[in-house]
Amino acid sequence: MIEPGTLEDLQDLGAYLRGHFLLTTKRHSDTFFILARLTEHPQRLKPWVAILQDKMKDIDAHTIVGPAMGGIIPAYALASMRDDARVIFAEKSETGIMVFRRGFRLEAGEQVIIIEDAMTTGSSILKVRDAVLEQGAHVSAVATLVNRSFDGQTPFRIPFFSVVDIPGIETWLPEECRLCRQGVPLSLPKQ
Ligand SMILES: [Zn+2]
Repeated sequence: MIEPGTLEDLQDLGAYLRGHFLLTTKRHSDTFFILARLTEHPQRLKPWVAILQDKMKDIDAHTIVGPAMGGIIPAYALASMRDDARVIFAEKSETGIMVFRRGFRLEAGEQVIIIEDAMTTGSSILKVRDAVLEQGAHVSAVATLVNRSFDGQTPFRIPFFSVVDIPGIETWLPEECRLCRQGVPLSLPKQ
């Protein structure tokens, strides 16, 4: 029996891979997370989101915001576990910032939770926070299913919640990569 909300659970789903990977940053790593392998199974995702909801039950927020694409399904799952919550999402603009489209609006002072599937540097969460603040709303908490920030530190002073923390994942420039030197074939897991 695999316990939900664990690395073993992710491994079983194929959401946590070990090997030799080319990242979108052009760096190489021996570890890759593809949380779509978790979020595509509602019944497997539900206990993960329930863990976050349990940790955040005292957080006052009416609106759940997920960055597209990875945050949308977790945001929907979280909102469905809270009384009278709505879910909206932010999308990347042509200039690389996060914006609300489709008529999504926040009221001044509205309390918001931002949720992402996996967080590495926190840069996309910071962009969503900026979009929330621009509308005069307030970020009450940030949540992620998988926290893989290098040293476990987050780049923001907002209450932060995660299900699993996997610090210390290394990445290398291609010329510094020991797996390249060993001749291990490189894979592109998102294709
Ligand atoms: Zn390599």
